[in-house]
Amino acid sequence: MFKNEPLTDFTVEANRKEMHSALTALEAKISSGSLQAFPIISGNEIKSGKKFEREDPSDTDTLIGTTHFATVENADAALKSLAAYSGTWRRTPANERAAVLHKAASIMRQRKFHLNALIIREAGKSWKEADGDVAEAIDFCDYYAEEMLRLAPPVRTQEVPGEDNFYLYQPRGICVVISPWNFPLAIACGMTVAALVTGNVTVLKPSEQTGLIAYEFSKILLEAGLPKEAYAFLPGVGEEIGEFLVNSPSVNMICFTGSKAVGLHIIQRASIVHPEQHSVKRVVAEMGGKNAVIVDEDADLDEAIRGILQSAFGFSGQKCSACSRLIVVGNNYETLLARLAESAADLVLGKAQDPSVFTGPVIDRESQTRILETISEAKKNHSVLLQGHQPTGGYFVPLTIFRDVDTQSALWKEEIFGPVLAITQAKSFEHAVTLANQSQYALTGGLFSRSPKNIQFAREEFAVGNLYINRGCTGALVCRQPFGGFKMSGVGSKAGGPDYLIQFMEPRVITENTMRKGFAP
Ligand code: NAD
Repeated sequence: MFKNEPLTDFTVEANRKEMHSALTALEAKISSGSLQAFPIISGNEIKSGKKFEREDPSDTDTLIGTTHFATVENADAALKSLAAYSGTWRRTPANERAAVLHKAASIMRQRKFHLNALIIREAGKSWKEADGDVAEAIDFCDYYAEEMLRLAPPVRTQEVPGEDNFYLYQPRGICVVISPWNFPLAIACGMTVAALVTGNVTVLKPSEQTGLIAYEFSKILLEAGLPKEAYAFLPGVGEEIGEFLVNSPSVNMICFTGSKAVGLHIIQRASIVHPEQHSVKRVVAEMGGKNAVIVDEDADLDEAIRGILQSAFGFSGQKCSACSRLIVVGNNYETLLARLAESAADLVLGKAQDPSVFTGPVIDRESQTRILETISEAKKNHSVLLQGHQPTGGYFVPLTIFRDVDTQSALWKEEIFGPVLAITQAKSFEHAVTLANQSQYALTGGLFSRSPKNIQFAREEFAVGNLYINRGCTGALVCRQPFGGFKMSGVGSKAGGPDYLIQFMEPRVITENTMRKGFAP
């Protein structure tokens, strides 16, 4: 059975010490200005290009490091060199490709505290959230390596005399991976290693904001024995490099995670066939969510409050799985709201590197401005149940809860991707599920109930990709809870699940007549 990477227990003093040392060591690199990321093509780092300077989202006066952006010419050269190596990587035995992933997992395990520190500083994740990101990346490597070994051997379709029939998979060719910043290691790693282990030569175009961690991951892949010709790392602006890669005729597959707007745009662009193109581009797109948690009349409120706060405000609500809508059934409404507000007011918002904080800043100034504007707009029409403290110095957004929210409003319908929770009351459990389903998204959903009848009803009618009963709606584990949604939350099979790798390959069937009439010499 697959075993997930355990999370670091920061209540253990030795672990806290190691985490502090890693942060101190990283601080020394930051102060000396030595943290830099470069595009990598065939193992060569490209030193020229536009520079992107990344500030610490917890302390915007501190520059963390510089990512050198790839140019369109770099991307063109990368695709050509990948195409030249595609046949060699395709013929590399699956067990050798899988071994690279296991090795990468073991390097990440050894450098966990360093990787945590980088995520804390570059993405603004709390210690615990950063540690979860690294553990998930390790899991993706180990799980997809095992999955590839399961899928690699050709399978006989039927036993019939005189004929052999084998079903097998081949890689698609060149895969472009486009990743978001919110799981800067796990998602970039998961999509990239899935593409590689299935035999595709692969480009990773990470998010602009988190180039440093993606560069570190790229170096780990090469250190783990990935042939340098099989991989290119192209940090850059989505609308330039991402757009160029998506439109390129030599690309066979695009694996994207990010916003609905960009995902739909990529699906549209990838459908345009260029005269020199040989295959239809396959797009896997994991997109947004507007996830609801339902609290039933008989729910255990202690459990519910803990689950809701973690799901709504962990990493300041910047998870595609985050709870952004809360639906409370019947008479529990006022009791739950009072207790929720009291507990939320105790959550500490502050610098991500401080181990005592519950959550840190949002990713950048653009996000901060957009979320603060959304909150002030929503205040015109909705009652605020709680608005928390807003520290200064970083991209902080106060944890905000609205009550009695109009279910036709933008606040109820649009993904905000920040620490904002909208609450409404439902007349009955069935009404609660109807409200939850009134969304164009279908990613995660949660339910707190002690009624077997209502739990069964939710199993059948609550339309989400990942439904969590009597627990929060974030924190899916690789293999245990394969992750992904439908409707406008995405197209493709669940990440970390048994159907995921198949998307990166094309199935073939080979039939041979074995009633031979002699052999040629
Ligand atoms: P985003 O869509 O802004 O960017 C994602 C990536 O797309 C980045 O690398 C960006 O540079 C690139 N990009 C932007 N424009 C492009 C273009 N025209 N062509 C090609 N690439 C382009 O998303 P984000 O802000 O990085 O991440 C937040 C979003 O991601 C949220 O909507 C969240 O729900 C979603 N998300 C979904 C999942 C999931 O599994 N469903 C997981 C994590 C995040």
